[in-house]
Amino acid sequence: MGKRGPKPKHHLGEGTINRAGYHRIWRDGRYVMAHRWAWEQAHGPIPDDHDIHHIDGDPLNNDLANLQLVDKVTHKRIHSGCELRDGEWWKPCGQCGEFKRVGPDDWYISKEGWPLYGRCRPCHIRVVVESKRARRLRKLRAVDDAAER
Ligand SMILES: [Zn+2]
Ligand SMILES: [Zn+2]
Repeated sequence: MGKRGPKPKHHLGEGTINRAGYHRIWRDGRYVMAHRWAWEQAHGPIPDDHDIHHIDGDPLNNDLANLQLVDKVTHKRIHSGCELRDGEWWKPCGQCGEFKRVGPDDWYISKEGWPLYGRCRPCHIRVVVESKRARRLRKLRAVDDAAER
């Protein structure tokens, strides 16, 4: 690594910035994430299955007002571009880019309620069908090539 990472923008003291851009500090004999530590100083231990989210998206802004306790599923949703509209989550499809309501109508849903494949149901079906067709074509072409020999 270089001589020194970026300077922390806050008052939590020394430490390092990890590769993901988060500030780590040395506390009680180990490295801890500064944002988690800061939140815990104010509110107590972070419950299991919860993360601390940086509201403004800046991982170095560990101002208490910028830190929000969210459950891990919600956190994942926020970071995958999901939006909460009228109490329901909408997620952009990685294929067609359209926002679709998170639910079994428009997505394949995992046991945990998480939409799978990063693309909506119609897009996923299209991709699967196309890749099957491509595989079949490749196979046919291989047969042709063999016949021509
Ligand atoms: Zn976050
Ligand atoms: Zn789509």
